[in-house]
Formats: sequence, C-alpha cells, structure tokens
Amino acid sequence: MRAFIPNYQLTTPASLADALALLENEPGVWKPFAGGTDLMVLLEAGRLVHRNYINIWGLHELRGIEATDTHITLGALTTYTDVQANPILRGEFPMLCQAASETGGLAIQNRGTLGGNIVNASPAADSPPALLVYDAEIELVSKRGSRWLPYQGFHTGYKEMQIEHDELLARIRMPRNTADLAHYYRKVGTRKAQAISKVCFAAVGKTDDGQIADTRIAVGSVAPIVLRCVQTENTLRGHKLDDETIRTACETLVREISPIDDIRSTAKYRLQIAKNLLVDFLATIRG
Ligand SMILES: Cc1cc2nc3c(=O)[nH]c(=O)nc-3n(C[C@H](O)[C@H](O)[C@H](O)COP(=O)(O)OP(=O)(O)OC[C@H]3O[C@@H](n4cnc5c(N)ncnc54)[C@H](O)[C@@H]3O)c2cc1C
Repeated sequence: MRAFIPNYQLTTPASLADALALLENEPGVWKPFAGGTDLMVLLEAGRLVHRNYINIWGLHELRGIEATDTHITLGALTTYTDVQANPILRGEFPMLCQAASETGGLAIQNRGTLGGNIVNASPAADSPPALLVYDAEIELVSKRGSRWLPYQGFHTGYKEMQIEHDELLARIRMPRNTADLAHYYRKVGTRKAQAISKVCFAAVGKTDDGQIADTRIAVGSVAPIVLRCVQTENTLRGHKLDDETIRTACETLVREISPIDDIRSTAKYRLQIAKNLLVDFLATIRG
C-alpha cells in the first residue's frame, strides 16, 4: 500500500553548499533524493522508512561529463540517457553505455542516475560491474571537504558502504586507459528488457602473443555486493590462454563468488552462468 504522503518532507536547496549544510547541521535527518527511481518504488510500496529528503536533482554542481587527456569525470546526477549520448563514453567505455541502455526503460533511463545506482547499493545493479572494471573512483563531498576513493572497496557489505551521513556522492571518474582492450558485458535476466539481473558480468582484457596481458572482471548478483573478481583475474594475468588456464580460472571464480537462491534465480544457475560467461569472455579475447 502507498505510503501516507503528508508524513514525508522534501526540501529543495538552492545550492550544493546549502544541501551540505543541511546534512551537517541535522545529522541523519536528511537523505538525498536524486532521480527517485529507487526511492519512489519504496514509497509506492509503503516501505520508505526515512521521512526527510533533500531534492538534489537541480544541483548543477553534481551534473555534467568532463574529459581530460587522462580521465573522464561524470557528475553523480548523470542519467543513463546522458551516458548513452556521450561520444567518449560510447567509444572508450562501451560497457557503461551498454549497462545504461539495458537499465529499465526509457523513463528510468531519463531519470535514474549513476550516483543513485551506486548509493542504492543493490548487488544486482547493472552499472557497478562496468564501473569496477573501468577502475572508477568516486568523490564524496561534505562541509568538511572532498575525498576521492577507489570505487572498489566502497561497498563493504549488503547495503553497507563508506559514506558518512553528511556526505554526498558528487562525481565518478574513470581513467582513459581502455583503448587496446576487448570489452565484454552481459546482463542475464528473465527477459531482454525491464529485468533485474540474475547475473551481470563485465570484463576487459587483452592477450599478447597468446598470453593474457591484462584483464579485469566484475560480477553482479552473485554476492552481497557487486564483486571485482581479483583472485580470478590473478589466475589469468600473465598466463597462456589455454584450456588449463580457463579451467583454473573457472574453479577460482566459483570459489570467489557466493550466489544465493532468491526470487529471481538459484545459486546453482548463477554459478553455472557466471562460469559460462567467463569462458565466453576468454574465447572473445582469444579470438
Ligand atoms: C522500473 C524500474 C526498472 C529499473 N531497472 C533497473 C535496471 O535494469 N538496472 C539497475 O541497476 N537498476 C534499475 N532500477 C533501479 C534504479 O532506477 C537505479 O538504481 C537508479 O540508478 C537509481 O538512481 P536515482 O537517481 O533514481 O536514485 P534515488 O532513488 O534518488 O536514490 C537511491 C538511493 O541513493 C541515494 N542517493 C542518490 N543520489 C545520491 C548522491 N548523489 N549522494 C548520496 N546518496 C545518493 C538516495 O538517498 C537513495 O538512498 C530500476 C528501477 C525501476 C523503478
């Protein structure tokens, strides 16, 4: 049943500084409301526990996509539509664009933000595997200042993350080092569109004279957080891409992930699909 709207308060600050002042002055009272595509689902279901929200949608400081020679930086309010429209992202970070194009429908893509996707912290979210593989860093801002941290490690457990009550996620940046890599992204769901992932697999890699010179792999919906599969990467990097290496990598991946049975799938199916996607990715870079 829908929540009783008068129980909720939404305030619209004039600037980022005003928003940060609210967060600092009344600790824990206010939470950000960006596109609202996750929050409104909870509201409609009568399960939106928190009552006071700061509407950050109009804060221009959290918008925009800027590129330098070394990095591309996206405001936290970058929508999935913005992602798909950006030529640098399309050329150098195609998995993020693919994730954006496979997230919800057009209405969600126009309104849902990357910042909201990250802080909502669903283990089944579709952008995080791509962001992890692209070695994204995130900027958190508060009245105390700004801090950048690697996105890998930001999520510490199911819906737990390294963000303080007075902080907003402001920007996401990725190094422009993907030129000679193969990019592989697969979202496996019940349908081709409007489905929550059963498994979401993102990877980049390249071979040099038959050896795996570089690879990065991340998988969603197979653990309490979206996982960068460092151990699996280590079984691959520097090794000849032969059947023995592929077998070892699959065994390591199975140990590294911990899928569960839930309403969308079973642990057994997710394990098998994750292995299949790893094998398919390796066939892609071998090819
Ligand atoms: C029909 C439908 C389909 C969907 N399909 C997909 C899908 O295919 N794949 C997928 O991954 N997701 C999907 N989603 C989920 C959702 O659209 C995304 O997670 C979206 O990116 C959330 O962004 P938002 O701006 O709407 O977040 P909001 O709902 O505004 O906020 C989500 C959470 O993040 C916090 N937050 C938001 N911005 C910030 C910030 N800058 N700093 C700190 N905290 C912040 C909020 O306080 C809240 O806790 C779907 C949702 C719906 C309703």
